[in-house]
Amino acid sequence: MPETIVALATPLGRSGIGVIRLSGPDALSIAQKLTDATELKPRYAHLAELRDLQTSDAIDEAIITYFKAPHSFTGEDVIEISCHGSPVLLRQVIDICLRLDARLAEPGEFSLRALANGRMNLAQAEAIRDLIDAQTTASARQAVRQLRGEFSNRLQPIKDDLLNVIVVLESALEFVEDDLPETQTENIKKRLEEIAAEIGRIASTFQAGKLIREGLTVAIVGRPNVGKSSLFNAMLGSERAIVTEIAGTTRDQLHEKFTIDNIPISLIDTAGLRETSDTVESIGVERARRAMADADFVIAMLDASEAFTQEDEEILESVHALNHLIAINKIDKTNDVDDLVARLQFKIQNPKSKIAAVSAKTGEGLDTLKRSIVEPFEPQEFSDAGFLVTDARHHDLLVRAQNEIENSLSQLEQKMSEEIVLIGLHNALRYLGQITGETTAEDMLTRIFSTFCIGK
Ligand code: GDP
Repeated sequence: MPETIVALATPLGRSGIGVIRLSGPDALSIAQKLTDATELKPRYAHLAELRDLQTSDAIDEAIITYFKAPHSFTGEDVIEISCHGSPVLLRQVIDICLRLDARLAEPGEFSLRALANGRMNLAQAEAIRDLIDAQTTASARQAVRQLRGEFSNRLQPIKDDLLNVIVVLESALEFVEDDLPETQTENIKKRLEEIAAEIGRIASTFQAGKLIREGLTVAIVGRPNVGKSSLFNAMLGSERAIVTEIAGTTRDQLHEKFTIDNIPISLIDTAGLRETSDTVESIGVERARRAMADADFVIAMLDASEAFTQEDEEILESVHALNHLIAINKIDKTNDVDDLVARLQFKIQNPKSKIAAVSAKTGEGLDTLKRSIVEPFEPQEFSDAGFLVTDARHHDLLVRAQNEIENSLSQLEQKMSEEIVLIGLHNALRYLGQITGETTAEDMLTRIFSTFCIGK
């Protein structure tokens, strides 16, 4: 018999309401001991008094909802207690549940139970996690599509087709003395090609899906005082970084998140890149170099009001091979922006280098700069696209399944025995099953669910 688990389903902090959730065979009896509600009718909201076990004093008034198994999120008896959102009170109620023999839930344990009880498949459970973690409306929308079974529904006919091919080959192995007739082999090949192509089509949406879900890391680099922190603040629309005219103020890097065209951007303001004898600053400089190497996109910044220096030159050289853009800042201080851009273009001779003229102070050129960051990743191409694969695990399994099928196809071409061809096809079917969790090993499930938050 499973244990009864308890967890806070809402974030711990002061709020209007905080929800505690119990799931398991004792959920109902725990709720009855905790409250003065004698009869809890399933799927009805009951206003009840919560009581201290020892003193019987009222500790809060709460709404209790009982979801009777199997018609609940987990498929078990579930109780939801909506108390007032006081951290002290919520802790006290959870403590009482623990004293009544409930146990604190592990991260993702409610979802794991829902999976074990057939209330949802693995891809759907992962979609709930992704929905909670979504940073933009676009990624939330993709997670909901997955939650509603769109991914599983698209996979099902592929798995059915593959299974049909496997059945034909298996029975040939059992009952046909000679080789399969040529027409039948050709038919099988055609079907396998179609299956592999369809899996490939789904897998290819991952590039866009990953961008929507994880977004881009963008680092601003440049020598001290060119205006990196000012640009960082201007892009975020808040005074997050300290801006001074003293070079070397930003000694370590700052990270903040915002979005451009529904793509989550993790923006990094790095320490100015320069030779320095200051230990703290030099660590910052080293980190800046690393951030630059790890970023998806780098903004290399120059100062329009000052002459181009050797340090600038070195910075431009170091971003040369990266996805980057050169931002000439402080254009409010100069009248000759076009001339400056033309001269720089001539100097760098790199057709990959886009140049944006901006003023972090006045905001001029910022919109163009933002658009230039996401442009190389072609967001417009998938903004209206259908379902996207957003999870690296799913992508990996799709690619593996496709490879196995293509491998089997070439074995068929080489007229190898059905026995050998079948190995790859069985593997492919198993990989596809792992996406929805039918064939996922226990330890893998534990690993996946440990990425969930507690109470989910
Ligand atoms: P960082 O060291 O590269 O991060 O540079 P900061 O953002 O700290 O800016 C250095 C100095 O340049 C500060 O005094 C800013 O006010 C100034 N500054 C930054 N951006 C602009 C700009 O677009 N126009 C003007 N006129 N001053 C700027």
